[in-house]
Amino acid sequence: MKTFPRALPIANRDSSLVTTLAAVIALVVFGIDALTPLDIAVAVFYVVVVLLVASTNNRQATLAAALGCVALTLLGFAMSHDSGYTSGAIARCLVSLVAIGTTSFLSLRNQAATTTLQEQVELLNLAHDAIVVHDMNDRITFWNHGAQALYGWTAQQALGKSIHTLTQTSSAVPVEQIRDELLRTNRWHGELQRVRHDGSVVVISSRSALWRDATGAPRAVLATNNDITKRKEMEAKLQRQQEELRATIDAIPGMVWSCSGDGRLTFINRRWNDMGVTLEEGENGTDVWSAIVHPADLPQMQRDWQTAIAAGTSFENVSRIRTRPGVYRWMHLGAEPLRDEAGMILRWYGVNTDIEERKQAEQALERSEAFLLDAQRLSRTGSIATHFADESSMWWSDEAYRIFDYPPEVEPSIEAILARTHPDDRALVRGAFEQGNGGAGLVDVEHRLAMPDGSVKYVHYVAHLNTPRSGGSEYVGALMDITETKLAQEALARSSAELAHVTRVTLLGELAASIAHEVTQPIAAVAACGGAALRWLNRPTPELGEVEQSVTQMIRDAKRASEIIQRIRAMAKKRDRSPTSVDLNGIVSESVELMRREFERHRVELQLELDEPSAIVCCDRVQLQQVLVNLLMNSVQAMADVGGARKLRLATRLADPEHAQVVVQDSGTGIGEENADRLFSTFFTTKAEGMGMGLSICRSIVEAHGGRIWAESPETGGAMLQFILPVDEGRCHEQ
Ligand code: ADP
Repeated sequence: MKTFPRALPIANRDSSLVTTLAAVIALVVFGIDALTPLDIAVAVFYVVVVLLVASTNNRQATLAAALGCVALTLLGFAMSHDSGYTSGAIARCLVSLVAIGTTSFLSLRNQAATTTLQEQVELLNLAHDAIVVHDMNDRITFWNHGAQALYGWTAQQALGKSIHTLTQTSSAVPVEQIRDELLRTNRWHGELQRVRHDGSVVVISSRSALWRDATGAPRAVLATNNDITKRKEMEAKLQRQQEELRATIDAIPGMVWSCSGDGRLTFINRRWNDMGVTLEEGENGTDVWSAIVHPADLPQMQRDWQTAIAAGTSFENVSRIRTRPGVYRWMHLGAEPLRDEAGMILRWYGVNTDIEERKQAEQALERSEAFLLDAQRLSRTGSIATHFADESSMWWSDEAYRIFDYPPEVEPSIEAILARTHPDDRALVRGAFEQGNGGAGLVDVEHRLAMPDGSVKYVHYVAHLNTPRSGGSEYVGALMDITETKLAQEALARSSAELAHVTRVTLLGELAASIAHEVTQPIAAVAACGGAALRWLNRPTPELGEVEQSVTQMIRDAKRASEIIQRIRAMAKKRDRSPTSVDLNGIVSESVELMRREFERHRVELQLELDEPSAIVCCDRVQLQQVLVNLLMNSVQAMADVGGARKLRLATRLADPEHAQVVVQDSGTGIGEENADRLFSTFFTTKAEGMGMGLSICRSIVEAHGGRIWAESPETGGAMLQFILPVDEGRCHEQ
């Protein structure tokens, strides 16, 4: 086999040596031919000269040598045959010329072929690929510059060596198998691993072709090799990145998926597999979605999906997804399209996110909102939130709208509230709003609403300060419609007044005997004094001094009777509570007057201890008198069955600077421990004919005046009932 490098032109130094040698031979041949009488075709040896010059592969030189040799042949012929030309000599000369001409022609043609070959070799050297030719024994016969650059050995170092030994070829496929395939198909393509001259390992993409000679016998293998080490590294890196991405996607706590532009599922992450869904299901034409989406949600989900595919917009849907057999969880299904440069959808990338907890929270919120709505409607309590920031904003609940009787389109505002507020209460409401604006911790206001139909509503608004993260201050409060409560309270107050009146009249009934005595006594005295006066007048000499005395007495007694009747009338009169500034000692004395006869009848020793100066309390004098008479009456009754002295102590004093106190202490039966707690309860009585209303009414009267009443059992025996009332600080008007 011919190896290409051998055909390469010989070096310059060698060519001048060869040219010199050829010139010497030419001179020698010329000398022998021209100067010796030898009758042989010496000039044939000029062929050697031509061949030598031709070996330099210089076309001009070869041509010049050929012409030179022809000229020398003809010159030699002329010089040696100046006497005559024999036919033999001419024939020898012609043979020599033909030999020189043929040799020159062949040499020039060979030179042209060599040049072409040389050019082709140069071209192969220009190739970036490493091109290696080896024979069937793996011996390298061609090694281009690309091979040198790739493997590191020069052509001189590589030629003649076994390619596999030199580069320590290793591959996934055994070398023998590669060889077999080459012999079978004349081609092989694959990857090899080789070691370079510097010891580094390269991965090669090799394309080999088998060259056969004219007889079809395999002669050589031409392989082009490319270094794909970087590409392999990139591929490995890409693979690693893909694996990492895959692991990341698998770790996402959601169902990640992608599908082709027409909606065919092409990728699902591990979360799907955990739920027992595989991609094969989808690829086999089975609709994965219909297998996992709750039948009730499937039609809507499919509609949304088809709409997204048709419009090429984002896909969004909320459906229940089966996570285990029979177990569905609410999920948000979302996908975005990936488009090519022309805008065509290549893929969809989607994630199903578990929103079960959120959904449950939403449902719980919906439920509690419904409860709140119900509760607000039933309790007639609306909510109002007022945000005081740069600009005040307000929010009303549905019930608040109902209480104000505003349609939902009305913008909540303080102006809207004021428009509904009773004109007399507007300043109050405005004041409360200002309080809120000023940052008060609590706003508590009770006012009236004047409704468009002319009715009046009573509302109670309580709000507390909240500091929202968004800044400013916010009041969250409840607006209670207390109209009914208010009306009920008024009705109760009315019936309490009725009841108090009835008990007062009952009390008077009990006092009837003593009252009758109280009244009859002064009237009898008036009559007696009148008689006496008459007698003094009827004297022959009327004793006018005596008459005057009797008339004065009469007037005094008549006044007394009139006062008693006035007191009784006041007590019996049905009237509303009207608090006035009352002299406590005065009212105590009046009550004692009412009870005087009763004390006498039961031989009660009254010990009156009135604190001076008398305290002034703000109260309804009739009601206070009712309390005092009640307590005194109870004491008289408690002492009725007790032997020994019946002592009743009635004292007034200041309990503290703000409260005046009245003490009624007796030496009666006292209060049994078992009864102490229920003494003031309505209908509690230990008396055969008692009603059990007295103390309960006393308590409601005292408490209505801002006081307190209680009973004690002193160690000395008997009972001690006492009450306190706030002293008047000028808020009460004298009547
Ligand atoms: P009533 O006098 O009709 O029984 P009250 O409410 O006035 O109703 O009194 C309730 C009960 O309290 C009396 O039945 C009596 O048992 C007890 N009670 C009230 N005052 C005294 C007192 N000074 N001493 C002992 N028990 C008393």
